[in-house]
Amino acid sequence: MTTLEKMQADNPWMVVYKTKSGFAGIPKAMIARQKVNEEQVLQIIKLQKKRNSLCVKIEAAMSDPPICDALLEKWTENEYKLQDLWGFDRDSRYHKFWEIPSCQCPKMDNDDAYPTGYYTISGACKLHGRHHMIRVVQTITG
Ligand SMILES: [Zn+2]
Repeated sequence: MTTLEKMQADNPWMVVYKTKSGFAGIPKAMIARQKVNEEQVLQIIKLQKKRNSLCVKIEAAMSDPPICDALLEKWTENEYKLQDLWGFDRDSRYHKFWEIPSCQCPKMDNDDAYPTGYYTISGACKLHGRHHMIRVVQTITG
């Protein structure tokens, strides 16, 4: 039995797939509830892997704000595509941006606020803080 087969046997309620750092899973109940077909599940796995690789790239680009912003945009687009595949409306309130490993925004506060959209952005977050400062400036001047 391969490690993947063992993971699948141990988690029968999940569709388990291999990632670069280990394994991840999609709950079968969610697949059934959203009436997602096999082809869509494969696409979802592909986009979830893309999310992980974007997070790694973001981490590597932290000292280069323009590249970081471009990657963050790709991350957001990827989240929208995932919502499409799951049959959900495109809604950025459901994007858990604080789960990007490089993000320093308060995770527990944002988990508590999910999915209201009233999230806390830390001015010290190198990913989102800069945008927050820009928004604040815009609010003051605009
Ligand atoms: Zn952040």
